[in-house]
Amino acid sequence: MLEELYQEIILDHYKRPRNFRIIELPSASAEGLNPLCGDEVTVYIKLKEGLLEDLSFQGQGCALSKASASLMTLRLKNKTLREVKADIDRICTLLTQEEEPDASSLESFGDLGALAGIRKFPARIKCATLPWHALKQALDAIHTQ
Ligand code: ZN
Repeated sequence: MLEELYQEIILDHYKRPRNFRIIELPSASAEGLNPLCGDEVTVYIKLKEGLLEDLSFQGQGCALSKASASLMTLRLKNKTLREVKADIDRICTLLTQEEEPDASSLESFGDLGALAGIRKFPARIKCATLPWHALKQALDAIHTQ
């Protein structure tokens, strides 16, 4: 059952979040808050020669916000800034679009597809998009330097 698999992925990343640490001397960091649920996340990024060499997060929150941040770090590490920005847009669209994504497009998101079910629970969408918005903020902070 796909739904059960997705549930397992979210629980796994909640219990054992990947890249849950602080980066010393990051290129940038940004904080995201979701007062509706009590989620707090700080995203750290380190850039090198146009690549997202490292990214990590810290904070506390519900299973969804943590799993989303953990999956995000795995997905984007060592990608180019262009790829990272395109992915942020794709994921935020996946999480907020009204129509059901078809199976093949869902598959292209890999484990991140586990977050797509959240579209049915509008009150929780912010939990899942929170780390992605924080990452976007961190990237914007670099560009304005
Ligand atoms: Zn939450």
